[in-house]
Amino acid sequence: MPTYQYRCSSCSHELEAFQSMNDEPLTVCPECGAEQLKRVISAGGGFMLKGSGFYNTDYKNASKSQAAAPPCACANGACNL
Ligand SMILES: [Zn+2]
Repeated sequence: MPTYQYRCSSCSHELEAFQSMNDEPLTVCPECGAEQLKRVISAGGGFMLKGSGFYNTDYKNASKSQAAAPPCACANGACNL
């Protein structure tokens, strides 16, 4: 029997339920009585990590191109900037 995890979007109560594949999904929160139970997909999370990885790459590239910004206009080191 698979275990399903539910989370109430009204009061944030979480619970696990043993249900067969053919059972109707639970909708009523036993804690607050609201019909706000949503089934939680627990195998997620990888997407967020990948997303931040892409963000870091973009950020590094951005700062690199900033470091290669135009050199001193005098081009011979005469100015001490
Ligand atoms: Zn609730």
